[in-house]
Amino acid sequence: MRDSVIIVGGGPAGLMAANVLEKHHIPYLILEKNDQLAKKLLLTGGKRCNVTNERSVAGFIEDLNMPHRKFLYHALTSFGPKEIKQFLKDRGLNLLLEEGYKYFPETHKSLSVLEALLKDLDQNKIMYQSSVKAIKKLNDGYVVMTKNQDYHASYVIVATGSNAYPTTGSSGDGIVFANHLGIKTIPFSPAETYLLSSQVKQKFKHLQGVSIQGTTLKMDGIKQLFHGDLLFTHQGLSGPVVLHASEHVYPLLEKGSIHVRISLTSIPIQDYDQSIANLLDENKTIVQSLESFTSKRLASTIIEHLHLKKNYLKELSKKELIDLKNMMYAFPIEIDSMPSIEHAFVNKGGIAIEELDQSSMEVKSSSGLYFIGEITDLQGPIGGYNLTIAFSTGHLAGESIAKKYNTG
Ligand SMILES: Cc1cc2nc3c(=O)[nH]c(=O)nc-3n(C[C@H](O)[C@H](O)[C@H](O)COP(=O)(O)OP(=O)(O)OC[C@H]3O[C@@H](n4cnc5c(N)ncnc54)[C@H](O)[C@@H]3O)c2cc1C
Repeated sequence: MRDSVIIVGGGPAGLMAANVLEKHHIPYLILEKNDQLAKKLLLTGGKRCNVTNERSVAGFIEDLNMPHRKFLYHALTSFGPKEIKQFLKDRGLNLLLEEGYKYFPETHKSLSVLEALLKDLDQNKIMYQSSVKAIKKLNDGYVVMTKNQDYHASYVIVATGSNAYPTTGSSGDGIVFANHLGIKTIPFSPAETYLLSSQVKQKFKHLQGVSIQGTTLKMDGIKQLFHGDLLFTHQGLSGPVVLHASEHVYPLLEKGSIHVRISLTSIPIQDYDQSIANLLDENKTIVQSLESFTSKRLASTIIEHLHLKKNYLKELSKKELIDLKNMMYAFPIEIDSMPSIEHAFVNKGGIAIEELDQSSMEVKSSSGLYFIGEITDLQGPIGGYNLTIAFSTGHLAGESIAKKYNTG
């Protein structure tokens, strides 16, 4: 159908765009590679889906680590966290606030988010097992090609995601389409991922499975402090605080290995000296003393790391006491690599932002062609930012087409 819209990819961004087109009674067809929709969405937030967050638009933008973060201002003011919450509520799904800013569905299931996205959509407008191979520009629109069929459309929305977690169907195909159409792209690089450390693998094997609640992580070369839970794995570090900090790591690693410094306790540093003074009075051993701040395994690791041969806290010199404090609040771990982009949760890169109109997500040089969601060079930290970006840019593209459709 020439006058219709083709949406390539049935993930959160594509499904949100479809909802807008459905609302405006605009004919559309979703072409989805898999035999099911939104496989990645179902995995999000440990299958509980951190769908959005409590941040204001200004706060949301401030939290993003992208030089072009303000590009999202238009999309987020039109349809941001507040509107996403309302959209889901209108479809019978309430959200619960966790950790003071993250929203999850009250059902604790990502499937509920998918069900809400599908509630108003017509199943006849979804073509499964329809992997798009190419998009060509015609004089009066586009032809979207799958193995078995060519689809003609006036408008095309590309919502194929990045190549993070390709087993979900997202293999960054939008980059290939863009390159054929002469649209500038930025190579993908890992943005949200765990970190690899030979030091942990060799020296701190015994820490595998040890977690630290509410740690603070500092990275050499980066001013920002990161807060959250951390987990030692058999090959490095993981957990929310690591995923959050990881988007800074890739460019730093290009110059060689880096150090992250983590607090091994959630007890505030300002309370440390008084607690140590009390422990000195109580004549405790070093291990007993450190155990009031952290786990036994971490306490022993500090002692080994500092090569302390003494038994009792009161036997330590002033310098050794200072070293102990430094280890407790800034334990250094050397990071030497990151998993490949396929293993990251979210990737940076994609369609270069200067190619897109921020008030519509339309390609500036190619009227009627839109890129939305993670296939664009727009991404955020852990905390519902990435799904919000997918929904927000998908909504904007849908509304922009509706405006053109109704006036043109
Ligand atoms: C394990 C994991 C947990 C995550 N948790 C969270 C979280 O809690 N909160 C959060 O905000 N973000 C989270 N994310 C990130 C978030 O899932 C993504 O940013 C988001 O799904 C991107 O949406 P999208 O619609 O742009 O792309 P995708 O979700 O990647 O969807 C793209 C769709 O396009 C289809 N497709 C691809 N190529 C083609 C083609 N050639 N033809 C036809 N169809 C095609 C794919 O099959 C897929 O259905 C998580 C990611 C992972 C991997």
